Amino acid sequence: LHSRSTPLKGVGEMRLGTLIVFNDVTRMRRLESMRRDFAANASHEMRTPLTCIKGAVETILLEKEKLPESHDRFYTIIEKNVERMTHLIEDLLELSRIEQQQGGLSLAPSQVDGVLETSLTLLSGSADAKEVTLEVTGAKGVMATFDPMLLERAVVNLLDNAIKYSPARSTVTVDVARTEDRVEIRVSDQGGGIPAEHIPRLFERFYRVDSARSRKLGGTGLGLAIVKHVMHLLNGEVRVESTPEKGSTFTLVVPT
Ligand code: ADP
Repeated sequence: LHSRSTPLKGVGEMRLGTLIVFNDVTRMRRLESMRRDFAANASHEMRTPLTCIKGAVETILLEKEKLPESHDRFYTIIEKNVERMTHLIEDLLELSRIEQQQGGLSLAPSQVDGVLETSLTLLSGSADAKEVTLEVTGAKGVMATFDPMLLERAVVNLLDNAIKYSPARSTVTVDVARTEDRVEIRVSDQGGGIPAEHIPRLFERFYRVDSARSRKLGGTGLGLAIVKHVMHLLNGEVRVESTPEKGSTFTLVVPT
């Protein structure tokens, strides 16, 4: 039950009493839990038929030379879309796992350098493909308290976006800074930036500034929602600053 109280004023400063409003949040919580279960179940159910389609297409393509050339384009469409849907389902399942805290958390003090290294290695292929330079600056050997798999997921998602939404031959920087009781990991790009009116909704699932562009680049619209939930689990937070035409900086704040 949530309650809120407001003083009730009459003429002038005369106080008439206090208005207390009670809100029953049980229904809201139940609806939220139903939504989560539905997303998890639907993604699970879609995984099996999708695997079957993928297997069938791969089998057909084993004898590609026997197939009419005019059909090539359709197989490519099927393959591409199966891949897109696989990504989407994986991201949905990941979001459900994080929301339900499945798999348990292993929070322990550790150096952030290790996580940055593995994340940069994972993204080096897509950076190379666009000739984007990945640079690490700032403090070395900094310790923070986190679950390495989860922090890696957040860093990878931010790096993936930074590369995706940056022009070719630009630079993406990962900067590490330590304050008294936390560590900040800043991922900056020289991309087109995000207009201010979109910032408040950016971390909602499926929210995109430009849906067509995001889909074309292989985005699922779930990357930043995953980052937000991960940082919540890690008792940290994610912030964003962006200047259109200049670039964006996403900051992960991790407790020490
Ligand atoms: P997507 O899979 O579409 O990239 P995300 O949840 O990761 O989904 O991001 C949501 C939206 O935020 C993106 O569609 C894009 O419009 C915007 N966005 C995210 N990161 C950046 C960035 N570094 N530069 C510009 N826009 C970004």
